[in-house]
Amino acid sequence: MFYEHQVQTNKRVELYNITTQVKSTIKDSGVKEGICHIFVPHTTAAVTINENADPAVKGDITNEMNKVIPFSDNYQHAEGNSAAHIKASLFGFSETVIIKNGNPVLGTWQDIYFAEFDGPRRRRFVVKVIEG
Ligand code: ZN
Repeated sequence: MFYEHQVQTNKRVELYNITTQVKSTIKDSGVKEGICHIFVPHTTAAVTINENADPAVKGDITNEMNKVIPFSDNYQHAEGNSAAHIKASLFGFSETVIIKNGNPVLGTWQDIYFAEFDGPRRRRFVVKVIEG
């Protein structure tokens, strides 16, 4: 089963929680045991899994990424968003989670985040749910 979701990000750099959308997608699929693959079809956004309890962690991650990969650094790419391209490649464009009893297997403190690096924008991500 293939699904496509829309996301409206709110900041230039942001970790946007998509766990609820992924869980409802798995529920809609009816798959109880299998694999859920999440893919971001953009070059300046990504997907990651990290802390869901303390929101300060998201801020620490994005603040540190902005320091490690500065917005301006004599990049050659004319569009002016090379930092976003680099961050997206470092995070990666897909995550795979195992489905057990109709739910994604995540740690207590883990959620799934759409990683925006060149927002705010209307974005999308796709999900493939495979029974097995
Ligand atoms: Zn670009």
